[in-house]
Amino acid sequence: MKKRMYIIPIFIPHLGCPFKCVFCNQNLITGQQKEITEEYVRETIETHLKTFPKNAEIQVSFFGGSFTGIPLDKQKLYLGIAKEYLDKGKIDAIRLSTRPDYIDSKILENLKRYRVSVIELGVQSMEDDVLLKSRRGHASEDVVKAVNLIRQYHFKLGLQLMIGLPGDNLEKSLNTAYKIVELKPDFVRIYPTLVIKNTYLERMYKEGRYRPLTLQEAVETSKKMYIIFIKNDIEVIRIGLQTTENINYGKDVVAGPFHPAIGQLVESNVILDVLKNIMEREKLRDKKITIFCNKNYLSTVVGQKKVNKNFLEEMYEVEVKFKTSDKLFGDKIVICSDKKIIRFSVTEFIKNNF
Ligand code: SF4
Repeated sequence: MKKRMYIIPIFIPHLGCPFKCVFCNQNLITGQQKEITEEYVRETIETHLKTFPKNAEIQVSFFGGSFTGIPLDKQKLYLGIAKEYLDKGKIDAIRLSTRPDYIDSKILENLKRYRVSVIELGVQSMEDDVLLKSRRGHASEDVVKAVNLIRQYHFKLGLQLMIGLPGDNLEKSLNTAYKIVELKPDFVRIYPTLVIKNTYLERMYKEGRYRPLTLQEAVETSKKMYIIFIKNDIEVIRIGLQTTENINYGKDVVAGPFHPAIGQLVESNVILDVLKNIMEREKLRDKKITIFCNKNYLSTVVGQKKVNKNFLEEMYEVEVKFKTSDKLFGDKIVICSDKKIIRFSVTEFIKNNF
């Protein structure tokens, strides 16, 4: 059985980051943030290790946007600590996130020395005008170069994308998804843009120069991208920022499509498309149908506030019951009506029919 993965997150702020991405408040925060010390890194790892069960797969994750942009001696200090734990078998992998233009052979050779196995790149968009308007300070070409180099060094690769940035629209987001497919990452994350306090985007928003996506638009766009990635065997490991004490309405989120479970909203919407497709193609017009799935999948299949159940009942004039089955794993679903039993995996159905 696949081991459950546990992450030890270590936030490494890019002190003195020379960039001014419109959505980031790092430049404002960094003035108040202390440098991350060796003790802090050790303490964070030790504290987390105590909370994990035996046989867990453990990764130390350095995040904060631009790990390889910080001075090399600092990179070595932090990586050296993580490597000690890796060498002793106390953790299983080291991962980090960085910018595409902070990747070159020297940097990657250093990461190899410290046994880093996963690199995530903040790509955001593959449309140059969107990157420019978002003041990212790099172009799509830098992403292609970085990805090719990372591949040569055989790292596992993840790409982080944002939708709804200034100048972005549905067509550009989907173009980005198709260009990302060509780069063949191992996984992606999709982040709908939020207007965060003390960012340039907040100013643009308040001056009426930026309109964030609505929640519905964010779900629609994420869904279309999700389907493109699934069809091309690229895992989508996250949609939407994780809710924290500050990432929340009334805290640091000023506007934008914030929802604590936006990933589930997207997945439920995908499942609804699959169920509608099956209802149509199988011409299921029985008065009652029962949909079975694993108990962990139930709330996603039914949809938040039973949205999928209500939609199917209204659209097809049927009574839909949802039941759990221990015999079904992952995304396997069985639909039973008086006349038919239909079994499928949501992922496989998308790959073969969408
Ligand atoms: S998101 Fe942009 S501004 Fe913020 S730390 Fe990363 S590179 Fe710097």
